[in-house]
Amino acid sequence: MRIEVDRDRCCGSGNCVLAAPEVFDQDEADGLVLLLRPTPPPGSADRIRRAADLCPAGAIHFT
Ligand code: SF4
Repeated sequence: MRIEVDRDRCCGSGNCVLAAPEVFDQDEADGLVLLLRPTPPPGSADRIRRAADLCPAGAIHFT
């Protein structure tokens, strides 16, 4: 799995961080998403799918 985030779309809701904190964080300066691990660790796939589902901005994509 490979993850991409679109910071231009992100509205800083933080849902992704709650869903998969091992992969997503929020920038302390502007609250926007930070992608910690574009290639996630084993076992994170379900949480990443949930993060993408919960993102109100449609800013999380994966292949
Ligand atoms: S869930 Fe979406 S809008 Fe919210 S911080 Fe994460 S990427 Fe940004």
